Amino acid sequence: MTTIGFVGLGIMGGPMARHLLTAGHDVTGFNRSPEKTRPLVDAGGRAAGSVAEAAENADVIALMLPDSPDVETVLTDGILDVAKPGTLIIDFSTIRPDVAKDLATRAAEHGLRMIDAPVSGGQTGAENATLSIMVGGHHDDVTEARPLLDIVGKTVVHVGPSGAGQTVKAANQLIVAGNIALLAEALVFLEAHGADLPAAVEVLGGGLAGSAVLNQKAQKMLDADYTPGFRIDLHHKDMGIVADAARAAGVVTPVGALVAQLVAATRAAGHGGLDHSALHRTIGELSGGTRSTDGAG
Ligand code: NAP
Repeated sequence: MTTIGFVGLGIMGGPMARHLLTAGHDVTGFNRSPEKTRPLVDAGGRAAGSVAEAAENADVIALMLPDSPDVETVLTDGILDVAKPGTLIIDFSTIRPDVAKDLATRAAEHGLRMIDAPVSGGQTGAENATLSIMVGGHHDDVTEARPLLDIVGKTVVHVGPSGAGQTVKAANQLIVAGNIALLAEALVFLEAHGADLPAAVEVLGGGLAGSAVLNQKAQKMLDADYTPGFRIDLHHKDMGIVADAARAAGVVTPVGALVAQLVAATRAAGHGGLDHSALHRTIGELSGGTRSTDGAG
């Protein structure tokens, strides 16, 4: 049994913390809005009143926070000077690769170990413990973390040194955003032709156009049900990570840049809190609006 402090019990962190608990570990959770600790406590875990309280007795500290500044703040204010020497920090958040590398160096300066372990698979993957986890860090730390990663994930791959997990995750977000945008365009196109949309989605799913994105997002688009899921705000953050990392490497991502603008437009229209499937709405509006993208389908 490992004593785990889990910080960030949102859409992803909540179910992940509960899976670690039900696998037999001792889990203490902290969430900025305290009411989100309730499901963990109801399942037999503990709630901490601060990050430091979750961190101080932990062998492993797990983080599942939105963005680079959040991870940096939580580490600086509640973990680096509090955690026991040798504590292993697993950062499941999606943040900038360069920040992940810097934070791992800072953790090491405090006698701690830190790996980046961003995930893919969405809310469904978190709830079903079927996440894909791309892990960056020292071999020994990743080996030690693996039994815990295997509890929340189905595909766990050590992809390189510190920061490498975040680089692979940035590529993941590029692919997902492009897929969602093209699926949305295809559905708007099909609707304009009066196609039988459920039938079209069924047959598309069986061919080369089939994808995890189609499986998880097509019905949400057809229903104009854009409840998150994965918020547009978070994908906007991730497209910024992709753009910066691509620039740093001297490569171009022209399709990604276009999709990033569609994500930004969705956010600018006030829909940052909707699921990223709401790209369907934006793309529908570019064609003058459609029955389903207006929410009337
Ligand atoms: P979320 O539901 O918004 O959860 C984030 C949690 O972090 C919330 O509980 C929030 O507390 C807490 N938090 C935010 N800022 C904080 C701060 N500065 N200090 C302390 N706590 C803070 O987000 P999520 O969807 O679980 O996403 C978490 C991470 O996973 C992100 O990096 C995202 O890109 C990544 N991710 C998400 C998905 C997905 O499908 N949702 C899939 C793969 C990866 P409050 O409750 O007070 O807001």
